[in-house]
Formats: sequence, C-alpha cells, structure tokens
Amino acid sequence: MPISGEEYRDLVICNSCQWAASLLRGSAGYTACPVCGNNALDTIPVGDHEAYTMMIKNRNVEIEFRKD
Ligand SMILES: [Zn+2]
Repeated sequence: MPISGEEYRDLVICNSCQWAASLLRGSAGYTACPVCGNNALDTIPVGDHEAYTMMIKNRNVEIEFRKD
C-alpha cells in the first residue's frame, strides 16, 4: 500500500538555532535559516519509505532513521 502521495523529502536543519523543516523534493528550499540567518544549513535526504525521529537535546540535534 503506497504511502500518501509524497515523494522524497529533504530534512533541513540549522545547527545554530535548531530550526528544522521537512521539504518536498523540488520545492524552493532554503539558502539560509529564516530564524537566525545562518547560511550553513544541513540538508539530509530522507527516502520515502524511511521514517525518522528527531530529538533536540540542549544544542544537539539527533536524528534516528528507521526503515518500515
Ligand atoms: Zn537558525
């Protein structure tokens, strides 16, 4: 059974303020953090059959990927 209509997503994370967003592939995306202006965002490709859990502890972002 297909999972919704979504294709690839990219997870974008700011290492400076922990702002994060999930983008549909092909969307405009971000070149800088809209919150703090940091322009060194991390982009993490996420496959459409992967689920992830994001945990923010202090100033660290931990992402756990799971395969269904
Ligand atoms: Zn930021």
